[in-house]
Amino acid sequence: MPNAARLLSSLAPTSQSWGTPITGRDPDRLTPADIARAAASVRSELAYRWILCRYADYRGQRDLVALQGLIVAELQDWANRRGWKLRSNGKEPGTGKLGRLAILWIAESLHPRRCPACHGLGETFNRETKASETCAHCGGRGHVRWSQSERARWMGIRHSAYQKRWARRYYRLQMYMSVIEEEGLLAMNRAIENRYG
Ligand SMILES: [Zn+2]
Repeated sequence: MPNAARLLSSLAPTSQSWGTPITGRDPDRLTPADIARAAASVRSELAYRWILCRYADYRGQRDLVALQGLIVAELQDWANRRGWKLRSNGKEPGTGKLGRLAILWIAESLHPRRCPACHGLGETFNRETKASETCAHCGGRGHVRWSQSERARWMGIRHSAYQKRWARRYYRLQMYMSVIEEEGLLAMNRAIENRYG
């Protein structure tokens, strides 16, 4: 993994204003230095690539391809060990679906849908108690997951086929990758805290 200084030199001078990762509504802008420090501090290559794809606003195609490759390798390993049936449909080999499943996860992770109940704030205001409380719809995350039919459409397969075969594989991938996201989020927060010494 490259060090923070080398990484920083490849990042563009501006970065996306996602807000800080935990609250999602802090007006602080993430700087390339934050992102570089965070990416250089994680142990796993998956978390490293995820941070760059999620936060760095630059010619990141290389990182997307690398992230997809790492996820597909993991999926391929599961497919072999668990005897997943990967049927070809004539147009593409069954293993092409593993690539699509990886892209589905990446797309969902990079473009989380804003929660319609709290508008991304993670909190709602209770008129009776006159206090804000954790949004019950999204559990305070501020965003909600995609629907099953959106996922099926993204993979280019029928909803029924998605539910029958791919929903539980995707669930397993989500469980696995949630650990990676957590590692990345913690690294981002550490990097932001370190700004102030
Ligand atoms: Zn919500």
